[in-house]
Amino acid sequence: MLIIEDYEEDALLLARHLTRGGYKLDWRRIETAIDLKAALDEAEPWDLIIADYTLPSFGARDALALLQQTGLDIPFIIVSGTVDEVSAVNAMRAGAHDYVLKGHLERLMPAIERELADSARRKERLATELELKLAQQRFSATFNQAAVGMAHTTTDGNFLLANRRLADLLMVDPSGFRGLILGDFILPSDRVTKRALLNEMLEGKRSGFRIEVTLLRTDGATFPAQLTVSALTYDDRGESTLLWVIEDISARKAAERETSELMTRLINSERLAAAGRMANTLAHEINNPLEALTNIVYLLQTQTLSSQAIELLDVAARELERVGHITRSTLSFYRKVPGRTLDLHAILDEVLQLFASRAQQHGVELLPRYNDSIRIVRYDPSLRQVFANVVGNALEAMEQSGGRIYIRGRVSGDHVTVTVADNGHGIEREHMRAVFEPFFTTKGEKGTGLGLWVTRGIVEEQGGVLQLRSCTHGPKHGTTIRIRLPIESRDNVPTAIVQ
Ligand code: ADP
Ligand code: MG
Repeated sequence: MLIIEDYEEDALLLARHLTRGGYKLDWRRIETAIDLKAALDEAEPWDLIIADYTLPSFGARDALALLQQTGLDIPFIIVSGTVDEVSAVNAMRAGAHDYVLKGHLERLMPAIERELADSARRKERLATELELKLAQQRFSATFNQAAVGMAHTTTDGNFLLANRRLADLLMVDPSGFRGLILGDFILPSDRVTKRALLNEMLEGKRSGFRIEVTLLRTDGATFPAQLTVSALTYDDRGESTLLWVIEDISARKAAERETSELMTRLINSERLAAAGRMANTLAHEINNPLEALTNIVYLLQTQTLSSQAIELLDVAARELERVGHITRSTLSFYRKVPGRTLDLHAILDEVLQLFASRAQQHGVELLPRYNDSIRIVRYDPSLRQVFANVVGNALEAMEQSGGRIYIRGRVSGDHVTVTVADNGHGIEREHMRAVFEPFFTTKGEKGTGLGLWVTRGIVEEQGGVLQLRSCTHGPKHGTTIRIRLPIESRDNVPTAIVQ
């Protein structure tokens, strides 16, 4: 307690009065403004100030003014022998909490008790207000600075609150959410599911839900998002507010897509390997009996037979040729010998040799346009199958008309490009995709529809790319297949030693 008083005895009297009243006192008497200032500056706060009304140099009014300047909330009671009614009222107006006459000290104790209790209440309220403000700031910071979009809406989806992240995600002005409805930002096709889940939640069948939807931005763009919805029950009026947490999942979706593509590629290459193994076995199993049968038919044809028998033998020979064609075009080369490779020049030469007589028969020129440079790269012999299928197709596209087939090969950087171009009838636009599907053929009985499927499979298995370009009319009609392969092993080409 601070006592502002010029008489030491009066101060002692006061202190004794309070001690008798049950207080354990720590008090100090002061009588100047400087002392008061110094006392108020001390770290330990004072609980109570009692001031005489008029000191020679420094009165209660001055003390009050000083106290108010510091902003401290300390009960201030005037105890004076000489205070008149008007001065007392003025002092109270100026902020004194009470006044007591020295002649009526019995009033002092209740006044002190009341003022101390009031002061404690005031402090508590201040602390509570501060806490509340802090809680509000905390909520507001969490809500606004969250890395996910967040919104409060009515059960009809009317926005009550939306955070900054959501404003960014939807490209809405942060202050422009009033009057908007969250559902309008969901792609119409996704709204039905959301509505159903929301209804179940509002009926109490679930406490919340999470769905993936496509959201519409105000600029018309869309993005995949995950919505997590729950009902907030803070509202005393019993009305539900919905809390929405909205996350942009574009990145996750892209990663998922990539994984699934990778899986498909893996499955495909596995399938191809299995197909390769099966083809290998089949080719072996079919070729031997086929050869035997062909020979038998040939031998029979040299016999003298009835005309009906000869006719039947011709049919048998044609059918055998067909089986042979199938094994040749899809199975025969598919024999993987680990470790054995051929240089690209040799591979192409072999293929051209294979087709030489057939080409001549149909008036088709085979025009190799590759040189020794491609001898430096070596590939698995299964590549013969690739070029045989492609050249075979080119030939078949010109069997009626005749024409030219250019076969080019070029090394550039870390890859090799081989193109096979014909000026045959071309591929209809609507068939461009289908030609790579297994069993798609436009050649009826004569085709297997497996050629391009197997071809692309082998190319991709080798880490290459196959491109197709085709035109069915005009002077440039024809088809070009471009195969790009990575160079895996080069022959050790002797290089000049520079000294
Ligand atoms: P197939 O040759 O047994 O029909 P492919 O898979 O080799 O099976 O080819 C599928 C289809 O693609 C062919 O039926 C044909 O219609 C078309 N095609 C492929 N290559 C050519 C080409 N060079 N010119 C025209 N059409 C082609
Ligand atoms: Mg074919």
